[in-house]
Parts: sequence; structure tokens; C-alpha cells
Amino acid sequence: IVELKDVKKSFGSLPVLHGVSFTVEKGDVMALIGASGSGKSTALRCIDRLETIDSGTIEVCGHKVHDRDLDLRKLRLDVGIVFQSYNLFPHLTIEENITLAPRSVKKMDKAGAREIARECLAKVGLSEKADNYPEQLSGGQQQRAAIARSLAMEPQVMLFDEVTSALDPKLTGEVLKVIETLAASGMTMIMVTHEMGFARRIADQVVFMHQGLVHESGTSGTLTEPATPELREFVMNDF
Ligand code: ATP
Ligand code: MG
Repeated sequence: IVELKDVKKSFGSLPVLHGVSFTVEKGDVMALIGASGSGKSTALRCIDRLETIDSGTIEVCGHKVHDRDLDLRKLRLDVGIVFQSYNLFPHLTIEENITLAPRSVKKMDKAGAREIARECLAKVGLSEKADNYPEQLSGGQQQRAAIARSLAMEPQVMLFDEVTSALDPKLTGEVLKVIETLAASGMTMIMVTHEMGFARRIADQVVFMHQGLVHESGTSGTLTEPATPELREFVMNDF
């Protein structure tokens, strides 16, 4: 469902991805890990075509992301992405934040969008906050609202980029629980995370990036028994 082949990407004269390849099957959870600057966010952004790649291929749900003629709108209908910062619109209620894209992009009517918003809020445990404004929510609640907003578009794949790293441990737990439930429901996802325990628990596949390359990958057991010294060191520093 997501396949990168020999993806290369530079920012100006700075090479960041040196030929990255990996595959995520439908329903699988992939944890993308690696040191700061190893290219994780860049790889994720390339998948949603927030960055264009220099060479290689990326296929997502049948879309050829590397293609000049890519229909961005169709790609974005299939891919949901959530970042560390929640980017909710402060002047809209939580429900309005969630119904915005289904209404404008999918042309849903008000009642239909509202129903989906309520369903998604229930999934992230925020039913009672629909009419509140973002600033009235905790960081963890805002992040869960951002996840609900993505889910409302009914994506095939969800991408998470360190969605808990701005949160304190208690709020982190709330958000991870939502992601875990989503994983159990069969959502295909790629998550960049520093939560090694969490990755080990829910990931079907772990991909370790090092200096712009996939240095080691495997099942979540890879984290317990790394094959390369680089991953061994990374895991030791992170636990
Ligand atoms: P972190 O764990 O800190 O988030 P990361 O693995 O996500 O790190 P990236 O954000 O992908 O790393 O960055 C990889 C490299 O690309 C870094 O050296 C970064 O400075 C550089 N980089 C990322 N985005 C840009 C950009 N828009 N313009 C120039 N350089 C960039
Ligand atoms: Mg990053």
C-alpha cells in the first residue's frame, strides 16, 4: 500500500535521503525510528508529497507520488498526516475544525459531516469537547482532536510524525492509546516515534534510519536484538 524505492532527496546541496526503500502492507503499523537529522520527517513528508523527491519512486494506495502528473487532491484523500504541532484553527470549535475538510474537499452536507465528526471524536475520546475551542483543551486533547480531524477524511493510510514529543508523559499516554486503538482497528500507519516501548508493542515492522538510509529493519523484535552497532547504540540511548 506504501512503497518507496531508492528515494533520493536533497535540500539544495545537502543530501538528506540517499536511496531509501521500504514497503508497508495494508493494515500494518510501521515504526520509523532514528537519530535526529536522519531523515525521518523528510521521508514521511515525501510520502504525502509535501516534499518532491529527486529520484526513485513512491507509490501510495496506487498513486504514483513521484509522478509530475500526480493528482494531489486524490493522494491527500487517501493519506492522513498528523504532526507534533496540532495546527488546529483557533477561531473554530473542535467540531468545526473536523468538519471543515469533509465539507470543503468532499462536499459533504452539514449533517453528514457533523455525524462523521461526532464518530471521530468518540474514537479519540473527546465527544464532550465538540463545541469547545482548541485553547480550551489540553495539549493531549488537542492532539487527539487533530487525529480525529484526519480520521474524518477516512484515509487509507495515516502518517504520524512524533505526535507525542511535545506532550508530558500523562498526555502522551492518552494519545498513544488512541493510536493503539487505531492500529488494532486495522489502520495502515507509519509513525515516526521516540517511544521505543510503544513501538515494540504495536509495530509490525520497524525501520531504523541512519544518515539518510534505511540502516536496519525488521519486526519489532529488532529493537530488542539489534543487528547493527548503530541501532544498538540508538536503542540504548533511548530506553
Ligand atoms: P528529528 O528526529 O530531529 O525530527 P528527522 O530524522 O526527522 O530528525 P529531518 O527533519 O528529515 O530529520 O531532516 C533531515 C535533514 O534534512 C536535516 O539535516 C535537516 O536539517 C534537513 N532539512 C529538513 N528539512 C529541510 C528543509 N526544508 N530545508 C533544508 N534542509 C532541511
Ligand atoms: Mg523529524
